[in-house]
Amino acid sequence: MSTAETLELIYQRMLAQLGPQHWWPGESPFEVMVGAILTQNTNWKNVERAIDNLKRAGVFSFSALAALPTALLAEYIRPAGYYNIKAGRLQNLLFFIQEQQGDDVEIFLDQPLDRLRQQLLSVKGVGPETADSILLYAAKLPIFVVDTYTHRILLRHGLIEEECDYACVQELFMDNLACETALYNEYHALLVRVGNLYCKKKNPDCGACPLQGI
Ligand code: SF4
Repeated sequence: MSTAETLELIYQRMLAQLGPQHWWPGESPFEVMVGAILTQNTNWKNVERAIDNLKRAGVFSFSALAALPTALLAEYIRPAGYYNIKAGRLQNLLFFIQEQQGDDVEIFLDQPLDRLRQQLLSVKGVGPETADSILLYAAKLPIFVVDTYTHRILLRHGLIEEECDYACVQELFMDNLACETALYNEYHALLVRVGNLYCKKKNPDCGACPLQGI
């Protein structure tokens, strides 16, 4: 079976057993962007608690978050963990956008993929996974997001070598799948679900997993 066929089979198996995941769980491109920073090294439940704090405090807007003292922003987002670092990273991104386009995230996101990716990666604290999450889920551009689960699942199924880095895994998907935002969106969301439910770091539950036998 070719790599393209195997990737297609993996997708179909996940979709058949788990169904569409309806990602990203954010109400607007701005919320997706904030969530992409807050979700670094934590789960989505904690991100939701942090975003709820910001909403309850009436500061969940571009201008309000950019104007908050960093220490206060850090307090609001404490449930997301690494809150001092994430408050700085979030404001780095907001200040960068302000410099480029003013306070309008949607205008900022309305740029060609390569240029926008380059800009996002130039912001301190925004790495490839965060940048690509913003590109795919907020800007709706066709780029594959790679995370720890993706790497682990592909490695366990012999599709990559241990040393295959972010760009190498991304290339594998993008060279072998149709270049479609909706497909990349659903595929990544399903991999995260499989990683969460079955393909844990220790004791993977292969017996119940849709990818058993591939
Ligand atoms: S849990 Fe097992 S079958 Fe499922 S993705 Fe991981 S290694 Fe594959």
